[in-house]
Amino acid sequence: MERPVTEADLTFEHVPESDQSFENALEKARAGDRLTVDDAIELLTTGTDSDGIDRRRKEQVLTAADHRRADVVGEEVTFVANVNNNVTTACNVGCLFCNFKDAAHTFEHDAEVETAGFTKTPTESRDIVADAVDRGIYEVTSVSGLHPAFALDTEHHEILAATPNPKEVNYKPPERYATDPGTYAEQMAAMSVDGVHVHSMTPEEAYHARRGTDWSYEDVYSRLQNAGLDTVPGTAAEILVEEVREVICPGKIGTDDWLEAMEAAATVGLGLTATIMYGHVENEAHRAMHLKRIRDLQDRVDGAITEFVPLSFIHQNTPLFKHDVVSGGASTDEDELMIAVSRLFLDNIDHVQSSWVKYGDEQGLKMLSCGADDFMGTILSEEITKRAGGSYGEFRSFEDYVDLVTSIGRVPVERSTDYETRRVIDPDESPIGPQLGPRADGTPLLTDTEQSDRTALADD
Ligand code: SF4
Repeated sequence: MERPVTEADLTFEHVPESDQSFENALEKARAGDRLTVDDAIELLTTGTDSDGIDRRRKEQVLTAADHRRADVVGEEVTFVANVNNNVTTACNVGCLFCNFKDAAHTFEHDAEVETAGFTKTPTESRDIVADAVDRGIYEVTSVSGLHPAFALDTEHHEILAATPNPKEVNYKPPERYATDPGTYAEQMAAMSVDGVHVHSMTPEEAYHARRGTDWSYEDVYSRLQNAGLDTVPGTAAEILVEEVREVICPGKIGTDDWLEAMEAAATVGLGLTATIMYGHVENEAHRAMHLKRIRDLQDRVDGAITEFVPLSFIHQNTPLFKHDVVSGGASTDEDELMIAVSRLFLDNIDHVQSSWVKYGDEQGLKMLSCGADDFMGTILSEEITKRAGGSYGEFRSFEDYVDLVTSIGRVPVERSTDYETRRVIDPDESPIGPQLGPRADGTPLLTDTEQSDRTALADD
């Protein structure tokens, strides 16, 4: 039997070396000059002239990024009232960093093992979103596994069913499964309750929604937009360098497809976000190359990317960790430098997000002084991080947000997904709840009883 790849086997063409010096790169960053990949490598490594992180240099990079943040967006810290409604965990793509998925065959009627995952029908999605809209959310975020029965719409089902070998296009008809997820278009329409903002359909999902056809990404995204989609999360990016993707997600779309899908979404008028998932097998050269690809994309799509979200790899419970391909995730130094260099490098993206789900409250707050200015969303329900072993809970009330943000002397601001609508929150407001959603009236998202039930659960 072939021995699985381990950390010791990994060799990459791209390594963190540069012709630049740390001092020059820092000088350019402080001056606001556009940085090169070499500059970013120097800043991310705190200098390739010595091994390990130099703490004094790290502080210089963080300070430069904090100053840039203040220049670009001031003292406001934004967040959005949102719910996560992930439709299904059924997926057989097999990304090695992912523990969100459940093998798709376990969802079939005649599966020998009972699935540990879930699939929601469009009606179930609508009910979840309608409840959250009633409570006052502005946005529903929905990212799902690539369920083999998922198709864009009825026409797509017909094309896939007529394919001579449906397995080749990762298709099985909905009748095979205990729960039919409906079509992507039906899910978008179902979640689009009262004009709530629907943030969904990553480039990977868009690829799945056109598999087996000759449709372009524009065709797919414009049909989804007609069904209710508003903006596209730029997840599934991981690291946009092929030699890394081949190790961590060989079954996923490549960098070119990811970029093509994002451009297509922007072309049909959808807003975008962008991400990096770092701290696994990649090195600082890959992180720097990824930033360059995102910055180039933002130039091409004319500013359609509203925020950049660095996602620190959570290693527990993932195949990469279990099979010894990695021994852990990024260090705190690396996390801070990733946020800071994202701020300094991405001179054409205004907002950098600190994810409290990935970093926890304390470190998440610290990131707001390392270049970040957005603090994510309330997340009424969050499955992805929890299933990968994260332990930072799954809901953040407006009151929590106001307490956290004011504790570091910054200004709490409720925002829309695209940051165009903002409301500065008066910390003396009582009660403190969202006001921007279609049915929001300032009432907190959870009642006092629900909130204390959740706190008790989290403490158990
Ligand atoms: S990251 Fe997405 S595509 Fe990859 S296995 Fe997980 S759910 Fe499937």
